[in-house]
Amino acid sequence: MAKIIVNTCPNCGANLPIDINQVCEFCGTAYIPKNLAALAKMDSQTKHNYITSYKEKLEDNKGNIPIAISLAMCHIDAQNYEFSFDILKKLAENDCTDPNVFYYMALAMLEGKKPRVLHIDKVRKVESYLNSAQVLSSGTGLYYIMQAVIKRDYYEYYLFNMHQGGSSKLLLEKANNFQLDVEEIHQILKIVKLDESDRSYFDSLLAI
Ligand SMILES: [Zn+2]
Repeated sequence: MAKIIVNTCPNCGANLPIDINQVCEFCGTAYIPKNLAALAKMDSQTKHNYITSYKEKLEDNKGNIPIAISLAMCHIDAQNYEFSFDILKKLAENDCTDPNVFYYMALAMLEGKKPRVLHIDKVRKVESYLNSAQVLSSGTGLYYIMQAVIKRDYYEYYLFNMHQGGSSKLLLEKANNFQLDVEEIHQILKIVKLDESDRSYFDSLLAI
């Protein structure tokens, strides 16, 4: 990620040049959340401060991709999936090639629901975003895990076997080639409401 210098902390407003990948030296808050698991652990005031600050910063600099993605993550955390999707879609329309834009679009499009309750057209759209993320990425296990969620909770649930890309088991084996963050995986599986039995299935196949 490129180093971007900004001038205030999103939480306490400390007026300092801050490296986006660091934490504020006054309040200890990360300038951008590491992932959804880290965000979920924050108190509601900090989350509120993040959203307010990111919105202001984006007004000044609409092209700030890390801030836009962070705001989209905050909206996913707050279950404002439409807000999140709209922010990400704008980035994609402006030729943003950050794979996380497409990954979070897929997550936002699921709207915190199990894939099996969605219309097939929506499921295909989610899959196309995940494929875009995969193509643009040098690799993260999370994209395979999200693809496995779709296979497990949609295609395998309805016993469709005409799907491309392999079974959920194969996708989870591919995910194991990457360094996996157990907390983030559990947070994602919680957001997409995967059944308890399927969460155990994921845990048993993942090297976590
Ligand atoms: Zn601060």
